Amino acid sequence: MDDFVTNLLNLPNTNVLSYQIKNEIVYIHIESTETKLPCRKCGRETKSKGVAQEVTLRHLPILGHPCYLIIKPKRGICEYCDDAPTTNQRLDWYKYKSRYTNAYEDHILLSLINSTVSDVALKESLGPDAVNGILQRRVDGQVNWKQFKKIGLLGIDEISLRKGHQDFMTLITSRVDGKTRILAVIKGREKDKIKLFLSSIPNRFKRTVAGICSDMYEGYVNAAKEVFKEKVPVIVDRFHVAKLYRKCLVGLRKSEFARLRAELTKEDYKLLKPAIALLRKNKEYVTKAERKILESLFQYSPALKVAYKLCCQLTGIYNSHIGKRKAHKKIAGWIEKVEASDLQCFNTFIKTLKKFQTEIVAYFKGRNTSGFVEGFNNKVKVVKRRCYGIYNENSLFRRLFLDCTGYDTFLMPQGLQTI
Ligand SMILES: [Zn+2]
Repeated sequence: MDDFVTNLLNLPNTNVLSYQIKNEIVYIHIESTETKLPCRKCGRETKSKGVAQEVTLRHLPILGHPCYLIIKPKRGICEYCDDAPTTNQRLDWYKYKSRYTNAYEDHILLSLINSTVSDVALKESLGPDAVNGILQRRVDGQVNWKQFKKIGLLGIDEISLRKGHQDFMTLITSRVDGKTRILAVIKGREKDKIKLFLSSIPNRFKRTVAGICSDMYEGYVNAAKEVFKEKVPVIVDRFHVAKLYRKCLVGLRKSEFARLRAELTKEDYKLLKPAIALLRKNKEYVTKAERKILESLFQYSPALKVAYKLCCQLTGIYNSHIGKRKAHKKIAGWIEKVEASDLQCFNTFIKTLKKFQTEIVAYFKGRNTSGFVEGFNNKVKVVKRRCYGIYNENSLFRRLFLDCTGYDTFLMPQGLQTI
């Protein structure tokens, strides 16, 4: 039976001495058969000097029961050092002075992926401070270049932590083979701060940057250009562009609906309301019945019809398989069409489009898909909603690191490895 428990524990060089279950909690007394016990001062082998005080370590649950390992670490005395220091044996499946085994810490970190500290604390009947402590100790608050091979596409995005507040954070990511990893969380979005981080990237990694995907924000684009010179293209991907022109459409929709609300009967206005969601929908997914609703809206609002059509056309340009030169032409043609119309809602967008023309057209070479940008942005949104109240850049970095890379890092059989 002890063999069974020993096998189940699967810790290197460990024997189970005894075990008991008290109040649904499993306590397993163990000893280590590891004989090596080097002096903590000089590193030479020590002479055995009994055992140190008992250590209780939380371990992985057994059949749903919380489980604790109890061990008396071996103690050795040094015969070489002058003051004959004693050393407690350190084993590689738990950290010295920790109250948890490495496997248990991995288990906590895995549970934290896409979850919250308070949730995990509740489920494990640990204090939130304990869960936070594990998170802080085990996951770096900043990039650890040792975990990277290359950067690939470097993304620069901004998020605002609270709606309506000016507290921006800049997220810098690496995108390789469809996987997004967080490189930095920076408070604010000033060019100098972004430049400082970009300059701090070790040269051997700078050389692996294939392109820089950025928001249409001059601070970002200029920081990237100044650090990477002409060597790396700065790209504004379709996601960022689409966000802006969709916003123009929403702006017009809001004012038009306000007008219609005043002009139409309650019943007629009510019939148009489903169109609000339909305007956001991709044209290909609009059904025949939905098309009818849109058509009736467009009868009341010709301006919305034109604006909607223009948005679809721009999406169409992005969806067609064309290169940089053709894209440049088509976008210029689109701008002309907008300018020829009576619409005012695209005015600032057109200005931006002209300002970042090079970067926008750069997207059409290589077409670095916006798929994972959007995926990542959704992750950020979820983190924001979930861990509402994270205003610290290191904490946000940790949570994003865990959500993006946690499964790759901690999902290992009996995770004894450290990151
Ligand atoms: Zn020594």
